[in-house]
Amino acid sequence: MSTTLRRPALSPSRAGDFKQCPLLYRFRAVDRLPEKPTKAQVRGTVVHAVLEDLFALPAVERVPDRARSMIVPAWERVKAERPEFSSLFATEGSDEEAQWLESATKLLDGYFGLEDPRRLEPESRELLVESELPSGVLLRGYIDRVDVAPTGEIRVVDYKTGAAPREVGEAKALFQMKFYALVLWKLRGVVPRQLRLMYLADRQALAYTPDEAELSRFERTLDAIWQAIMRAAPTGDFRPSPSRLCDYCDHKAFCPAFDGTPPPYPGWPEPDDTEPLQDRD
Ligand code: SF4
Repeated sequence: MSTTLRRPALSPSRAGDFKQCPLLYRFRAVDRLPEKPTKAQVRGTVVHAVLEDLFALPAVERVPDRARSMIVPAWERVKAERPEFSSLFATEGSDEEAQWLESATKLLDGYFGLEDPRRLEPESRELLVESELPSGVLLRGYIDRVDVAPTGEIRVVDYKTGAAPREVGEAKALFQMKFYALVLWKLRGVVPRQLRLMYLADRQALAYTPDEAELSRFERTLDAIWQAIMRAAPTGDFRPSPSRLCDYCDHKAFCPAFDGTPPPYPGWPEPDDTEPLQDRD
């Protein structure tokens, strides 16, 4: 087990939580209240695992049938790493589980409809990146894939596996991609040439080219979010901000906006070795 001490950091998901609702941020990042994983989230984890493993194979083997054969082993591995996922289906081997695995197959087929992995040699997969901004905020996240062209140009790739149409999550996805672009720029001194979002369910890809001025503005946005978090951190004054997204919040029962009472504030977390949870959507 790692003994590395990790300072509290800002990930794209947690920054997005705070923007949406400061109390949701507190519940997730400070209280770390458990959340029930959805079938779509866990399917995303499995599909991401297959796509990561696919690039470990010799290029010639990266074909759809081989990828499909990797789904069940990836699911077994994910269950072994996260035992709480085992309760996703009431009965192991049920029709429901079979249909869910089939839906993961369709997402992989969607991936192959967008690119041919035999022609690619990614520089990194599931890359953990960390960078500290001059203001002191530590940015941390996992990048699905980084491609580097012979010219040195960097492409950041993110796989979206959720069922929602591309338009619904686009702003959130671009926020996440700018976050990664900023971290890579800080780490490598090069602004990524392209941010590529691959929506596997609807077989669409979105390419976006960031520039320095835009990423500098984005850096100021992240600084402002972190300063707001730091203002609330000593006292726990993270306020609810109700919206239609409350329908998807696991913590309504603790939320004053819905007549709930939050648990006692545990205080700002000490450095620890906990990784931020990855949202696969
Ligand atoms: S129910 Fe809504 S307002 Fe309350 S914590 Fe969740 S997202 Fe925030």
